[in-house]
Amino acid sequence: MNKFANFKDLLAYCETENCSIGEAALRYEVSLGDRTTEAILQGVQTILSQMKDTIQSGLLSEEKSMSGLSGGFSKKVITFVDSPTAFLSPLEHKMMAYALATLEENSRMKRIVACPTAGASGVVPAVLIALAEEKQIPPEKLQMGLLAAGLVGEIVSRRMHLSGAAAGCQAEVGVATGMAAAAIVECLDGTPQQALDATAISFKNMMGLVCDPVAGLVEVPCVKRNSVAGLHASAAATLALSGVYSFVPLDEVVDAMVSVGRMMSPKLKESAEGGLAQTPTALAFTEQFQKKEK
Ligand code: SF4
Repeated sequence: MNKFANFKDLLAYCETENCSIGEAALRYEVSLGDRTTEAILQGVQTILSQMKDTIQSGLLSEEKSMSGLSGGFSKKVITFVDSPTAFLSPLEHKMMAYALATLEENSRMKRIVACPTAGASGVVPAVLIALAEEKQIPPEKLQMGLLAAGLVGEIVSRRMHLSGAAAGCQAEVGVATGMAAAAIVECLDGTPQQALDATAISFKNMMGLVCDPVAGLVEVPCVKRNSVAGLHASAAATLALSGVYSFVPLDEVVDAMVSVGRMMSPKLKESAEGGLAQTPTALAFTEQFQKKEK
């Protein structure tokens, strides 16, 4: 079967076969030959269940991470929905809180699903689980959403290392946002073209995002960055579903991200030598933290 060298290839396959990106991803997985359709879907369901478990344990915990930089924010956001000053919908609150819950669990060294990386593990689960709860998306459809997200991530990963150290945060939270946008469109029965437009719109707005973690820990800005990224994916998916398309095709957007990643200074690639990591607050924290660690 076609290995989908790029997104143009994937779109042509979906149009010829009259199938969604999730279905194309499932057929691709089957074509690898080591698992049946049922075994693959069972595996996808297991991943979704783990994502849900992580969100639930994260929401219940107020424990701080070892560094003290994160922990306890997800609960604040989920309860804020009942406040008179809350102005976003329950779906949006859940997306933000669920991403926080996952990243807070990651900071506590609990089990998460890297999606595509640990530092970006909040976006896709938050969007999928919140959407399922608030829009009554059935499990089979949710599985297709995750498969679509996975295939988007895989195609990008063939042209770009998915790590902040290689290409900045555009390669972690940026890619997760595009994966989540495609998953939303898949779950809401948009077309493959709309899913890829949603991904392209997400990527265009995440392009150039630097990796600048305070003290080199995957906490600040990573935890809150994941939380906001879920809404970013939702906005991109909404634009695509309403008929707004990307002027630049997705493959070219990915090429541009690769090129931007190459131009980015090593100081902005997980080295903690630039961006937020070099602010006075971050430097003072890092000094204290390193003293404590000795
Ligand atoms: S800022 Fe760096 S460490 Fe944090 S999520 Fe982004 S790429 Fe990962």
